[in-house]
Amino acid sequence: MALYLSNAEFLDWKTHEITRTAIRVHEGVDAGIDLLDKVPDGEPSLDCSGRIVTKSFVVGHHHIYSALARGMPQPAVGPTSFVEILENIWWRLDKALDADMIRASALVAGIDAALAGTTFIIDHHASPNAACNSLHIIAEALDSVGLSHLLCYELSDRDGSERLEQGIAETDAYLRSHQGLVGLHASFTVSDDLLSRAMEMARLHETGFHVHVAEAASDQEDCLAKHSKRCVQRFADVGALELPQTILAHCIHLDNEERRLIGESEAWVAQQSESNQNNAVGTLDARAFADRVFIGTDGMHGDALAATRATYLASQSVEGLSPHDACERLRCVHRYLDQNNFRGDGENNLVLLDYHPPTPVTPANWASHVMYGLNRSHIETVISDGRVIVQNRRCTLLDEDSVLAEAQHQAKRLWDKL
Ligand SMILES: [Zn+2]
Repeated sequence: MALYLSNAEFLDWKTHEITRTAIRVHEGVDAGIDLLDKVPDGEPSLDCSGRIVTKSFVVGHHHIYSALARGMPQPAVGPTSFVEILENIWWRLDKALDADMIRASALVAGIDAALAGTTFIIDHHASPNAACNSLHIIAEALDSVGLSHLLCYELSDRDGSERLEQGIAETDAYLRSHQGLVGLHASFTVSDDLLSRAMEMARLHETGFHVHVAEAASDQEDCLAKHSKRCVQRFADVGALELPQTILAHCIHLDNEERRLIGESEAWVAQQSESNQNNAVGTLDARAFADRVFIGTDGMHGDALAATRATYLASQSVEGLSPHDACERLRCVHRYLDQNNFRGDGENNLVLLDYHPPTPVTPANWASHVMYGLNRSHIETVISDGRVIVQNRRCTLLDEDSVLAEAQHQAKRLWDKL
């Protein structure tokens, strides 16, 4: 099966070269596209006149489980530190999640991402009282929106051994039948025993870690106090940085030796500027590993373009990031997925942009259009694995309105439990 696009302005995501062309989009995971002089006679096609067609986007670090948190009641006493933000908000929320809430969260987060032009989500999930089957529920929900994914369950010692064993069982069961990662919360809630078991699981399933690293200074202080070493060294010592699938999220509070370790390693870093500003924890300095940084949203939304603009604005003062550098960071995740043979991010994942700027678009200035003009309102049609999953700004594979109504119901249930 193939879908034909006619009269497209095809923008190559690597070179930003623009070609006026017809496109044959093959259906199926990693099935690819062909640029054609014209659509073959007799084949129906999607007319892309006045539309820029380019590769869709990936969210490199998400927390789908937080989708029902928007506007939830706040704790009586506001958090005064990053650890209090976790303890008083996110760890209360994730403990209250059940299967129906997880499903509703994944569906609305998936719809939000798809409408923003995202076709692949790398997620980090926690639901300590409903770990069993949780990754399977999320996978099924994202599949139903038409999105590809790379999931993990957040293993941690923070909730005791019984819940940890359930998280390990879910991780192991999921990785036996799906691509995914071994999720860990962060050094300060992970014991040495858990760290070595996680490493065994990663090697068994031929994958890597997905872990928060030095998001706040307190993670480093805890690591130095308990383990007499800094966080990156701790993960390096068990071999996690030798795994090319490993994602280190945040990496804000590193010293130069840790930056050098990452720069010389196989690991990748996910940057979440908006979340870092939201939690007032600082800004990444990625100069020592700039070719291995990609962009996530940390649960705030599914919009990779918005996250890229935020990255550009936040990282200018720290790294002197240019619009071109920020675009490279947006697209770096495709290399991560490709080099690790993760499936679902092939060239047959596309967005049709209804973007009519007041100035010319050229290969040399596309990055400036991405920073100063393009946003999710321009995402008109989204093609995932060769299938149209968003058309005229509406999801095609499921009924958005009934999903939102169910999410409202589940959000009330969740908030009542908090
Ligand atoms: Zn995170």
